Amino acid sequence: MNKSINYPVYRLESDIEHKLKVIIFDLDNTLYPDELGVFPLIDARINSYMSQRLEIPKNDVDALRRVYWKMYGATLQGLMLHHRADPEDFLQFVHDIDLIPVLKPDSTLNQALSSLQMHKVILTNASREHALKVLKTLGVQNQFEHIFDIRTADYRPKPHKEPYLKVLDSLKLKSSECVMVDDLPDNLKTAKELGMHTVLIGEENGFPYVDCCLGRACGIEEVLHRLRP
Ligand SMILES: [Mg+2]
Repeated sequence: MNKSINYPVYRLESDIEHKLKVIIFDLDNTLYPDELGVFPLIDARINSYMSQRLEIPKNDVDALRRVYWKMYGATLQGLMLHHRADPEDFLQFVHDIDLIPVLKPDSTLNQALSSLQMHKVILTNASREHALKVLKTLGVQNQFEHIFDIRTADYRPKPHKEPYLKVLDSLKLKSSECVMVDDLPDNLKTAKELGMHTVLIGEENGFPYVDCCLGRACGIEEVLHRLRP
């Protein structure tokens, strides 16, 4: 990853060209339904990491995670700042899960992604290695041109602006040329503040920064026309 990145210049509304070029997909609970239960596997690994590797008392783990999540947007940030956790050790440990029992190849998703006449990339708070494992298990690894992971902005996660800005800069894009698809409203709030179009994988909620809601990622094509002028 190029470290000398120039951040893009923010544009006035009147300067925005409404041309959609890239769809930025979140990974977990966006490309597959949350009810499949991948996150609980990762959660259990995070808890083990905190108690085993960092020797945090088991009774304190849940409360600490909530605090760090609220303060920093991700557990890892708090563990790095307050417990001197090695981020690479953390990522390797918490993503050491077996996806085969929970995820299966998704030909419907693969077809839906194939039919999109836009570039597709991943922006995830997980590691690139985990992303590749998920994409391969779903059978959609060839659909994405880039994976931007938690290392993209030096472990600074969504919904902080830094990873979004790195993506825009790396791909030489204007924010108005991007559609962000994510299952977490807060991640879309940042995307909208930067000028992106936003699609929530989830139920209609009335959030002003969500342009469209969608039950499953495989329906993305049908909502894109609503975003085009
Ligand atoms: Mg997600």
